[in-house]
Amino acid sequence: MNRRAFLKAIGSAALLPMLPRRLFADSASVASGFRRRRPSDANWPSEADWKRLNDSVGGNLIRVDSPLSVFTTDPNGDAAKALAVNLKNPYYVGEQLGLTESSGWLDAWASKPSVYAVAARNANDIAAGVNFARDNNLRLVVKGGGHSYQGNSNAPDSLLIWTRHMNDIAMHDAFVPSGCEHAMQPQPAVTFGTGVIGRYAYDAVTTKAGKYIQGGGCLTVGLSGLIQGGGFGSYSKRYGTAAGSLLEAEVVTADGQVRIANACTNPDLFWALKGGGGGTFGIVSKMTVRAHELPDYFGAANITIKASSDDAYRGLIRDFFAFYRDQLFNEHWGEQVHVRPDNVLEVQMCSAGLSSEQARQVWQPFLDAVKQSSQLSITGTTAIGSIPARHWWDPPYWKEHWPEIAFPRDGTMHAILDDVLLRVMHQPVLTFDPRPGASPDNVWWVGNTGECSIFWWGYQSLWLPQSLLEADSQQRLADALFAASRHASIELHFNKGLAGAPPDAIEAAKNTCTNPALLNAFALAIFADGQPPAYPGIAGHEPSVDDGHKAAARLDLCMNELRKVAPDGGAYVSESNYFEKNFQQSYWGENYPRLLEIKKKYDPNGLFFVHNGVGSEEWSRDGFTKL
Ligand SMILES: Cc1cc2nc3c(=O)[nH]c(=O)nc-3n(C[C@H](O)[C@H](O)[C@H](O)COP(=O)(O)OP(=O)(O)OC[C@H]3O[C@@H](n4cnc5c(N)ncnc54)[C@H](O)[C@@H]3O)c2cc1C
Repeated sequence: MNRRAFLKAIGSAALLPMLPRRLFADSASVASGFRRRRPSDANWPSEADWKRLNDSVGGNLIRVDSPLSVFTTDPNGDAAKALAVNLKNPYYVGEQLGLTESSGWLDAWASKPSVYAVAARNANDIAAGVNFARDNNLRLVVKGGGHSYQGNSNAPDSLLIWTRHMNDIAMHDAFVPSGCEHAMQPQPAVTFGTGVIGRYAYDAVTTKAGKYIQGGGCLTVGLSGLIQGGGFGSYSKRYGTAAGSLLEAEVVTADGQVRIANACTNPDLFWALKGGGGGTFGIVSKMTVRAHELPDYFGAANITIKASSDDAYRGLIRDFFAFYRDQLFNEHWGEQVHVRPDNVLEVQMCSAGLSSEQARQVWQPFLDAVKQSSQLSITGTTAIGSIPARHWWDPPYWKEHWPEIAFPRDGTMHAILDDVLLRVMHQPVLTFDPRPGASPDNVWWVGNTGECSIFWWGYQSLWLPQSLLEADSQQRLADALFAASRHASIELHFNKGLAGAPPDAIEAAKNTCTNPALLNAFALAIFADGQPPAYPGIAGHEPSVDDGHKAAARLDLCMNELRKVAPDGGAYVSESNYFEKNFQQSYWGENYPRLLEIKKKYDPNGLFFVHNGVGSEEWSRDGFTKL
């Protein structure tokens, strides 16, 4: 009997309760011109409605205020002074319902609190919020770590689902995704609530349990947003993308159902969650990811080289990439090299699986060649070294093993990365949360401090294909980077392109929906500029619009030069231009049509909207009006 005859025979209505509620809801209700409600609308939910929602989430509905209001009400008072300090502390910012890690982006967005937030404890709280937003035609937004550059975890006049307190982490020795019992072997894994940030995951998984999971390089990035974006950590050249390690997700879809998504159950949704962008297909309450084996060592190489002329700088860039191609283009080396406008090449790379001695041997020929050149000089301290991988994210271990390390009162720590010669890297590496009573686990890399509360003037990125590393292309690459560096400093993140990664990491990434350009890229070029804590509309804290426009124009010029050698590079969804042209192609390439189908299947009415997300082209820029 065919499906149609079967339905007729049993009476298709009998099947209705088995279909996910509202999964195939009437799309007529969101025809062109459909508008989501704002507090100023007469049909905004009543106090009684909000009270009912509050009751259904155990009293965890919170009216959101902006901590920034003190800048207006008492700009010179102690509270405003304390706030100014706290705005440079990513743990403080992450704990505030009404703040986000970036404060906004010129001509794009400014961080604005929601009207109400559900501080969710579990999938049921999330489902209550989703049902309420859907039934009342509200703009819904979800925030985990709050690190979206595009402003996708805040929206004025919205209901926020906040997962920050869903912080449980559980290790498994032998995890099998539900329904995959006959298809997959048990494997070590980690399940976590979607409020977990990298720092806490690394502490539980690496420091305490001796395993590795793919989180972000920045310790305060939320794992959920990172994984759904297809993100990268310092060691992604070895372990692949964060999405590639996802084994299972528990997700609340637009119909309010709590679903399991993995390779065997809802595999389409599972695939879309692996890089399709956060806040798009549902709200994830739990994730389980592969736990990888740790190598013996993690390490770093910090070297700064200054060229005395433009020609010498061009030559340095070319020679560096020849060296990179021969010695560093492999699973051991990730993180960054900065090509700066002042003719300085700054190496800030991380290594996996190499002892201090091995790492130094790799770099020695390059350093010797630099030393022999009369036109190049090494400035600052060169530090190349490794520590046991298990202690990479373990500040108490560093303290215990090197008691001579200074912990100045400003909260910074001088780290020793060289366990053989005990050569000190003369720069602070980690910053501690300075608030009285703050958890000693609250640490972040000094390099990320500048990004906390930053107001972006511009931010662009481009994957660079590995063909540029071929001997006959290295000069073109060097010329393009030199020309681009006349306009802005370019960061090349080698861990954010998978060319050179081991086959298992490549294979896992192939099974995600990220633009396949990722597989062929040796690095992601990122160039950005912005202004530390600045807030449009708050007197005394306004961003500098003129400076911002000039900076954004310089970034455009920089991109023009790089596009000459990588015209179809593509970009990584979470770290890219708010104004990315043809974002569908840039972020997802040939995967976009399938992603759009999955979006329409699970969220036919576009309840979940994020800027430049899958399906967002059907909505106004603020996500309130169907086009
Ligand atoms: C300082 C800084 C450093 C960064 N470093 C790195 C890095 O090293 N590597 C890298 O790859 N990226 C990095 N990023 C980018 C980062 O990975 C992405 O912005 C990521 O999406 C942030 O996730 P989040 O949970 O912290 O952010 P949020 O802003 O809370 O969320 C990001 C997106 O995911 C959605 N989302 C959040 N939680 C959920 C959920 N439970 N269910 C469904 N959707 C959800 C949000 O709606 C939003 O669209 C960095 C960003 C910043 C600001």
